[in-house]
Amino acid sequence: MGYVWKRVLTPAASRLFLYLCIMIIKEEKLTIKEILDREDFTRENIISLLNSEGADRTLLLKKSADIKEKFIGNKVWFRGLIEFSNICSKDCLYCGIRKGNKNLVRYNLSDDEIIAAARFAYVNNYGSLALQSGELESPNVTSRIENLLYKIKDLSKGTLGVTLSVGEQEHKVYKKWYEAGAHRYLLRIEATNQALYNKIHPNDSKHDFNRRLGCLKSLQDIGYQTGTGVMIGLPFQSLDDLAGDLLFMKNFNIDMCGMGPYIEHVDTPLSAYSDELLPLKDRFDLTLKMIAVIRIMMKDINIVAATAMQAIDPMGREKAVKIGANILMPNITPGKYRDSYKLYDNKPCTEDSAEDCQSCLEARVSLADAEVVYGEWGDSKHYELRRSKEVSSK
Ligand code: SAH
Repeated sequence: MGYVWKRVLTPAASRLFLYLCIMIIKEEKLTIKEILDREDFTRENIISLLNSEGADRTLLLKKSADIKEKFIGNKVWFRGLIEFSNICSKDCLYCGIRKGNKNLVRYNLSDDEIIAAARFAYVNNYGSLALQSGELESPNVTSRIENLLYKIKDLSKGTLGVTLSVGEQEHKVYKKWYEAGAHRYLLRIEATNQALYNKIHPNDSKHDFNRRLGCLKSLQDIGYQTGTGVMIGLPFQSLDDLAGDLLFMKNFNIDMCGMGPYIEHVDTPLSAYSDELLPLKDRFDLTLKMIAVIRIMMKDINIVAATAMQAIDPMGREKAVKIGANILMPNITPGKYRDSYKLYDNKPCTEDSAEDCQSCLEARVSLADAEVVYGEWGDSKHYELRRSKEVSSK
């Protein structure tokens, strides 16, 4: 056998053959530069990127910053964030506003307060606002939000874009709100590995992974710009899970991404695992790398610089903008309620007013050498392209 081998291949050719075999079997041996030059990333490639340190990490962040500049420009769009209620029917094990947390004053803004906040966004030319709350499903909630949407469209003469982030709902409810003018929806899947999802949620029908997934599909089918995301640095979470999360987003063809570091909240069951977590600064760094990788994988989607990043690093959101994020959500919730929308400990800006948030964010954006675009919806380019392809294939 050895004789045949030697006769067929010259020594140089057999060395090359052996080298190729090793490269194929051990794909993870690619350098970061080689991975970054590829069209598509495998799960192993993504894990290598998330593991990158030093000069390799710099290469990753530089590549995503370049892609952002090329496909989006050094721009940032605002979504004025109204956290209109912290009342929630769910009991997610990580979340400070979970139903079971009794150490929390519950609030629900009046319609007038919501409309006043929306008017602030309109007058200040924000372009868009986002309505977020705990998760409730009822005919009252459906019609309340529907009416608010009509009012917001009315007061802004149709010019304010609206993102909703009010959790899992029936298909027909999403449809009603879409028809009333909401055109973007943010529903984080939280963790795409179902086993991990089940570890961070109660094990009952109210916290069903497949329902959440079905909701995302409904949103996409109805025509929303559909956003999802995960928490990074959760207990029990591996880099393999995070790589799976990014591949899920790519395969699902999302239009918007909102990911942030997991930060423990003292009044939640998951805080019992604090000893097992990565240090906060490593969770932050992993979030930056996750943003960089998704920006490279999905060049034209909208990516939010999550507030939770600023809870860890005072310059957190600027760092995210610099390497790939293009959406910021200045908080325009009336100040007296902010302290009660505590998803995690040390949530920043709870003492600020809406005006404080605007000037602070504007200064921060310029620190990231970017520019706030006022008066535009700042829709996901990915969505426009996806929809035009869907129309032309019909
Ligand atoms: N429940 C609503 C939105 C409110 S919570 C919905 O799902 O549509 C908004 C997001 O805050 C959640 O999706 C979750 O990803 C994040 N969050 C909750 N608890 C957190 C924590 N302890 N650390 C970091 N992010 C958290």
